[in-house]
Amino acid sequence: MPELPELLHAQAKLRGRLRGLHVRRERVKEPVVLRFCVPGNLSLLLGRALQDVMRKSHFLAFRFEGLDLAVNPMLAGRFRLAAPGDKDERSLSFALEFEGGAEPVELRYVDDKDMGKAYLIATDDWRAIPGMQTGGVDILSTGFTAERFVSLLKHRRDQVRVFLLDKKALDSLGNAYADEVLFEAGIHPKTWCRQLSRDDALRLHAAILKVMTEAVQEVARRDEPIEVKVRDFLKVRRKDTCPRCGSKLRIAGVHGMDSYFCPNCQPETRSGLVDWRRTGK
Ligand SMILES: [Zn+2]
Repeated sequence: MPELPELLHAQAKLRGRLRGLHVRRERVKEPVVLRFCVPGNLSLLLGRALQDVMRKSHFLAFRFEGLDLAVNPMLAGRFRLAAPGDKDERSLSFALEFEGGAEPVELRYVDDKDMGKAYLIATDDWRAIPGMQTGGVDILSTGFTAERFVSLLKHRRDQVRVFLLDKKALDSLGNAYADEVLFEAGIHPKTWCRQLSRDDALRLHAAILKVMTEAVQEVARRDEPIEVKVRDFLKVRRKDTCPRCGSKLRIAGVHGMDSYFCPNCQPETRSGLVDWRRTGK
């Protein structure tokens, strides 16, 4: 899935390029991603001007007069900007062609897995979207305070990496940044939440803020096309060697997902975990 830094970059670029332009044409290739919470279909957008591109949770919402098109890219969805005649239509789900700028431009939503969802809703009618009520605290918002984080961690019975990925608690971290955050805080991914001291929790909260703020800045600075995932600056995710101590990075399976960590900087916190420092491998 696009992680928050990528979503924010896409939001800024799409807003800059499309705001004020009118929809001239719509095309649907994979209707399975579309959900209409108002009577009608994408043709409702024809002739309307795009007023803004907003982010709410892991959605980008395209605001038109009276209607929002709210897109959750899920695992594999991406946005692309293309010339209307661009022949690369791989994995295309739907497209909106805009006019009114220097030249026509098409917003394409592509999704290799067709798992994303695009909801056409009345303005701000987020209640029409299933699951929106149960979202967690936005980790880039002022509401994401240390005390809020500590209280979210209380009574959790799962492993810390599972907690970090729980979108009902935190909105939101994906696999890549969960690994980066745990590395920054020096916490093993399989640590039980209840084992974390208050200091650990505060360190983890600070790590989330630091890692995400730096990543948002870096992805914006690189300014790649919005369909490109800029991840090469990450410190441990899909890397071989710890940038801090030089140890070989390891992969732990946490709830069926690969977690990259440094066995030296993020030592085991409970018995039963392989301690790679002792195996000599
Ligand atoms: Zn290390």
